Amino acid sequence: MRLSRFHLHTTKETPADAELVSHKLMLRAGMIRKLAAGLYTWSPLGLRVLRKVERIVREEMDRAGAIELQLPTIQPRELWEETGRWEKFGGQLLKIRDRKEAEYCFSPTAEEAITDYARQELSSYKQLPVNFYQIHTKFRDEIRPRFGVMRAREFLMKDAYSFHVNDADLVREYENMKAAYTRIFTRLGLQFRAVQADSGAIGGDASQEFHVLADSGEDAIAFSTGSDYAANVEAAVAAGPGPRPAPAEELRRVQTPTQKTCEEVAALLGIPLSRTVKSVAVIAGDGSFVLALVRGDHAVNEIKLGKVPGVGEYRMAGEAEILEHLGCEPGFLGPLGPRKPVRVVADREVAALADFVIGANEPGFHLTGVNWGRDLPEPDAVADIRNVVEGDRAIDGGRIRLARGIEVGHVFQLGRKYSQAMGFTVLDENGKAVVPTMGCYGIGVSRIVAAAIEQNHDQAGIIWPEPMAPWTVAICVINPKKDPKVDEAAESLLQELKTAGVDAVLDDRGLRPGAMFADIELIGIPHRVVVSERGLAAGTFEYRARRASESEALDRAQLLQHLG
Ligand code: ATP
Ligand code: MG
Ligand code: MG
Ligand code: MG
Repeated sequence: MRLSRFHLHTTKETPADAELVSHKLMLRAGMIRKLAAGLYTWSPLGLRVLRKVERIVREEMDRAGAIELQLPTIQPRELWEETGRWEKFGGQLLKIRDRKEAEYCFSPTAEEAITDYARQELSSYKQLPVNFYQIHTKFRDEIRPRFGVMRAREFLMKDAYSFHVNDADLVREYENMKAAYTRIFTRLGLQFRAVQADSGAIGGDASQEFHVLADSGEDAIAFSTGSDYAANVEAAVAAGPGPRPAPAEELRRVQTPTQKTCEEVAALLGIPLSRTVKSVAVIAGDGSFVLALVRGDHAVNEIKLGKVPGVGEYRMAGEAEILEHLGCEPGFLGPLGPRKPVRVVADREVAALADFVIGANEPGFHLTGVNWGRDLPEPDAVADIRNVVEGDRAIDGGRIRLARGIEVGHVFQLGRKYSQAMGFTVLDENGKAVVPTMGCYGIGVSRIVAAAIEQNHDQAGIIWPEPMAPWTVAICVINPKKDPKVDEAAESLLQELKTAGVDAVLDDRGLRPGAMFADIELIGIPHRVVVSERGLAAGTFEYRARRASESEALDRAQLLQHLG
């Protein structure tokens, strides 16, 4: 491949609306372009990376014995009615009508479609177990699409679904998939961690997430110092109920007016921040206050404007109204983070306030999703409600440590929820109809690309882990037009690398060396070889690894040995 015949379009300017480094760098490298909110075009450069990720995912799924197929992205309402998810899935489900006014959705996930396929195809225990997968477009109408392809609306997912005659076999396949995921993320060259997770809207018995570790991650992960235990904080279980962290006495010590961070306010109110509750703000003065409990995935319109119970009603409020009450600039609430300062004005009604906060954990209120300790009865142990915070005692006797992660994979044991609802049975060995049990396994293929950049970049740009680099080697030609011998030498090196199975690209665009090197660094090519008149005269090539600070002069044999 010659870059003069490729469409590479990099920019120096940092895009104003991009917050995350991966989003900025993907735009600057010209890997993606925005079409509309959460909808991105993958450029030829971006697609090369996406395809490399996809290939590793496919190879490991195949190796694990899963079988590839493809389901439609547009799926009829009737199918989704069978499991009740046409209504229950919520706002992320994009609903569409055709010319006959028949209703469809764009698949955000495909349990219904695969179960429909399975009930047509599978009738005997002899056909089980089976694990079908696809690598296909998904659409979720995210409330707040952001960070480029990290949280897009249209994105590429690998989704797999397995069917089994009994639970033990499901557990076996679940472990098999976990092992495959571990191979996938290891091969991709990412630092990751498998963690216990909540099974969320999909439901079921057991579930684990795979997180790429990065400070910018939206999820908080809890590790234990005592063992390998790791969990999404929503699922992490501290060892038994702890003391309620915020007695009313302490609450009264809040002065008026004062600046506190969300973390401090949360601590005072006894609500540890989590992925679900990312910030808390309180204003009390004339008996009214604003309570902002912000859920991770949700936009600021999830914030509730409240009054102390008995004093007034609370209701949903828009962003502008809340910001006005908080005395904050527009844009203050996005992005949300635990260290953002909030203005706290609270010197009375604080005890009632604390009760209100706890009361908000009742169904239908904005604290739904906050975890109950597993060993506590639900839902009357209100006083003992707690989430995991840094330093908590873990089940294994160790201490909880917190880190941030990006969810790139998720495995679930679904059980019989979908097969039961959709009337799917197979005949067992005794000729008796049984409902198969299911597992499902997702990987955010397009999100991985952004997550890899969050973990691997520097001032100059992206530093791809080799397996997902658009090209492994860039051969940079100095003054290609001036002396045909230079271009010829570069071309023959390109061919030799190709023969050795190395994915190389030749930069023959004729840019000044500085500009050319800046592009090659920005787009993250792991190895750079400079071919110049001077080098050829000396019989050497100038080689530099993307992470190295110095170049070295290597002769042809040394170079091929190093790269091949
Ligand atoms: P999140 O918690 O980030 O919203 P999820 O738990 O809703 O993700 P799953 O239903 O588990 O997502 O889907 C499988 C995988 O698809 C996720 O682990 C993630 O990597 C990816 N994914 C989910 N939503 C998006 C999105 N909006 N953009 C890109 N990738 C996504
Ligand atoms: Mg989601
Ligand atoms: Mg999730
Ligand atoms: Mg998930």
